[in-house]
Amino acid sequence: MRFYTLISLIVCVSGCAARAVPPSMPSGSSPQNIILIIGDGMGPQQVSLAFAHERFSRHKHAGIGALTRFFASSLIGMHIPFTDNHLVNDSACSATQLGSGCACEPQQVGMDSRSVPCENAAEAAHKMGMRTAAISDTRLTHATPASFGVHEEHRGHEDSIAWKLSNSSLDIMLSGGLAYFASSSGSLGEKPLCGRTTVASKRKDALNPLENAMKRGFNVVCDEEGLEEGSLPLLGLFAERDMGDAFHEGRDGEPTLVEMSERALTLLDNPKGFFMMVEAGQIDWAGHANDAGWLLAEMKRLGNLLSAIEDFTKRHPDTLVLLTGDHETGGFGFSYKDSTVGGESSGRAKETKLDFAPAGLIDVLDASSMSLKDIMKQFSSLPQVDRTPGKLREMVFTGTGQRLSPQDAQAILDTPLERSPFYPYSDYLPSARLASRLAPHTNIAWSTGTHTSTPIPIFAAGPGGERFRGVMTSKEFGEQLLQIVKRR
Ligand SMILES: [Zn+2]
Repeated sequence: MRFYTLISLIVCVSGCAARAVPPSMPSGSSPQNIILIIGDGMGPQQVSLAFAHERFSRHKHAGIGALTRFFASSLIGMHIPFTDNHLVNDSACSATQLGSGCACEPQQVGMDSRSVPCENAAEAAHKMGMRTAAISDTRLTHATPASFGVHEEHRGHEDSIAWKLSNSSLDIMLSGGLAYFASSSGSLGEKPLCGRTTVASKRKDALNPLENAMKRGFNVVCDEEGLEEGSLPLLGLFAERDMGDAFHEGRDGEPTLVEMSERALTLLDNPKGFFMMVEAGQIDWAGHANDAGWLLAEMKRLGNLLSAIEDFTKRHPDTLVLLTGDHETGGFGFSYKDSTVGGESSGRAKETKLDFAPAGLIDVLDASSMSLKDIMKQFSSLPQVDRTPGKLREMVFTGTGQRLSPQDAQAILDTPLERSPFYPYSDYLPSARLASRLAPHTNIAWSTGTHTSTPIPIFAAGPGGERFRGVMTSKEFGEQLLQIVKRR
C-alpha cells in the first residue's frame, strides 16, 4: 500500500502540473519521427504573450489558437540555459546543448568547451537511416540551423559554416543566406538561379559551397515555386542574407516558414522516419529590438507552424513534437505601473493610481504592421530636413497604430545612439531607443537588449515526450533527445 502511495507521489511530482498526452499520441514508446521546434528567444513571458492574445484579442488568430492548444495539451518541462561555465547563453551553444547534449561555451557551434566536435541529433538520425532537415526563417549559416549541420569554433565564421553545410549529411536545408554560399566572385553558376546569375557574395576565400552542394547532388532552389518542385536532397536559399520578418513573410517569392516545413514534411516522410529541426528565429530578433508588436507577429508565425504540425501529427501520431526556446531575449514582460507619475494619467485618485495593464493593450500590440527597426530605418533614410518629430510620430502611427507624444518624439531625436553594456548591437539601437518611449504606454518592461538566464519551458507531445518532464539543464535536454534518436 505504502509502495503505491510512493509511486503516486513520484508520478504526481513529475507530472501533476501537466495535462495528459492527447489520446491520439501514444506515449512511452519510441517515435517514428521527431520534430524539434526552437522558438529562438522564447521564454515563459513570450509564451504568456501568446496566451494573452488568445484570451483577450478582439481578432482571434488561427495560429495562436493552435499554438496555445499545443501548449495546453503538452507535457511540460523546463530547461535552464546555463553553459558549461556561464550563466547566460547564446543561440549557438544553446542549440549545441539542445541538439547534442554537449557541454559548450557561448558562440560555439556543435563543439564542446574543449573544442571537440559533438554529434548532433540530425547526424545521429542520419546514421540510423532516418531522413534529416534543418529549417529556419533567419539564414542557414545562423547559429541555430548551423548547430544541426556543422561543427565550428565560432558562430561568426559564417563562410566556413556555409562550406561545411554544403558537405553536411542533412537531406534538407531551407532558409536564407545565399550570399555565404556563392563564391567570392558572386557568380551563381552557368544557369541562372531565380533569374539571377550573380549575388553580392559574403565570401573572401576560393571555395564555392553552392557548386559543391550541386556536385553532391543537391537540388538548389531559391523561391517558393522551386521549393514545391524540388526533390531530395534539397538546399533552399531564399534570401541573400536574412529571410523576411513576420510582417513581410512570403513576399518576393520567399516561402513562409509553414511552406518550408510542409514541403520538408512531405519529402521527409518515409518508413525509416525522420528528424526535423525548425527554428522560428526572429522571436529573438524582436526581443533584441525590444519590439513587442514584432514579437507578437513572430509568435503568430510560430503559431502558423504549430497549426501545420498539428495537421501532420493527426495523420502521423507516431511523431514526437518538441517545442522549446534556446534562451529568453530582452527580459520582456508586462508590468504594473504608477499612473500618477508622468504620462497623461497624472492626477488620478490615490486608490486608482496603480495601472495593472488593461487587457485591451493586446489589441494595441496587435495593430503593428511593421517593426520599429524598419520604421527607424525608413526614418533615418529621409533627408535631414524631413527628420522632424512630427514625421517620426506620423511614421510610428502608420507602422504601429500607437501615438508617440510630441515630447517623446523630440526626446528620441535628442538622444544620441550609443551602445551600452546591455545594448551592444548598433543595428538594434534605433529600435530600442524608440521602444523605450513606447513600451511604458503598453505596460511593457524590457530589461535588456541581449539574452537573459530565464528558465525555458519545454512542450512535448507524442511518444518519448515523457522524458522531457521536470526541470533539467539544456545539456540534459540534448542527452534525452540523442537517446531517443539512438534507441529507435
Ligand atoms: Zn539572440
